[in-house]
Amino acid sequence: MLVDSHAHLEMPDFERDLEQVIQRANESGVGYIFTVGTEEKDWKRALEIADSHPSIYAILGVHPHNTKEIGDQTYPTLRELCRNVKVRAYGEIGLDFFRNLSPRNIQLKRFREQIGLAKELGLPIVVHDREAHRETLEILKLEGAGKLGGVIHCFSGDYEMAKACMEMGFCISIPGSITFKNAEGFREIVKRIPLESLLIETDAPFITPEPFRGKRNEPGYVRYTAQKVAEVKKISFEKVAEVTTENALRVYRLK
Ligand SMILES: [Zn+2]
Ligand SMILES: [Zn+2]
Repeated sequence: MLVDSHAHLEMPDFERDLEQVIQRANESGVGYIFTVGTEEKDWKRALEIADSHPSIYAILGVHPHNTKEIGDQTYPTLRELCRNVKVRAYGEIGLDFFRNLSPRNIQLKRFREQIGLAKELGLPIVVHDREAHRETLEILKLEGAGKLGGVIHCFSGDYEMAKACMEMGFCISIPGSITFKNAEGFREIVKRIPLESLLIETDAPFITPEPFRGKRNEPGYVRYTAQKVAEVKKISFEKVAEVTTENALRVYRLK
């Protein structure tokens, strides 16, 4: 069995054919999908999808892109929605200094606040870090986020960063970009990360792995990422599937 530890099924990209997408994921051996609602308009939809599918769980929070929209009602609403037992983590939260869709100072402030909210809710966190490795590590340490545990999703740092995150107690989630032809450097890093700390994800509809690069991504394609991890680590596909599934169920506290 495989787990897609991070997808966005509530996004409009899946409006038209969500049930077929889920069906295809099941046929590809994906036993669980964690769908991440990144802004207020998506939270209820993510929960609806999770509530109506036994194999789907939700993760809710405010994405760094959307932190400039946080208002008085945002955290009270999240507090309420996160009581649902299908919400297994808080996120994705963090820093995106690549696109800078919210000002950096606001991203930094809201990242720290949301780690605080996750503590209050007793949920592990899902961290988004793009071109902000140093600042992300600094805040995780300052806030003692290791106590919560969770996932550095769509990992893009170097091995030193992976090591620092693992030492704090985080898992590292590998997206479909590991299959890209020009990702030799990334594959070298993944080779060094112990399987016991790895999760795999699609981040669907984004980051579509080869051989479908350029098309919409979907959770069933997580098997191409698993295959590549197996190849890079010179172990069997079955072993990757088994251990990354165990890891995901442990991080999201489903066992
Ligand atoms: Zn992300
Ligand atoms: Zn995401």
